[in-house]
Amino acid sequence: MSSVKVDEKCPFCLIVKDTIPSHKVHETEHTLAFLDIFPISEGHTQVIPKCQDLTSKHVDHVHFHVIPKPNEKEGLLLSEEVWKQKKPEKEELAATAEKMKAKI
Ligand SMILES: [Zn+2]
Repeated sequence: MSSVKVDEKCPFCLIVKDTIPSHKVHETEHTLAFLDIFPISEGHTQVIPKCQDLTSKHVDHVHFHVIPKPNEKEGLLLSEEVWKQKKPEKEELAATAEKMKAKI
């Protein structure tokens, strides 16, 4: 039985619960890392705590973006196109997740 409290309207909670499928890269007792489905560069990952809900009220689920910077054109740019997202195919994300898991 999981003791993680879930807010049904919070997409991050639903990812933790596996109600929303995600491409998980790494998981610990307290955190989950999964691929952003609109990555800025390959391997763009979001890291979230599994249980941010220590009080009775659900606050916005804190999340961190980890964005690889493989070269000058990809990743975060110092220009007007700072947040340039792509929409890769599911299979592409799955392959990236496998590649990353192999390196952890
Ligand atoms: Zn949440």
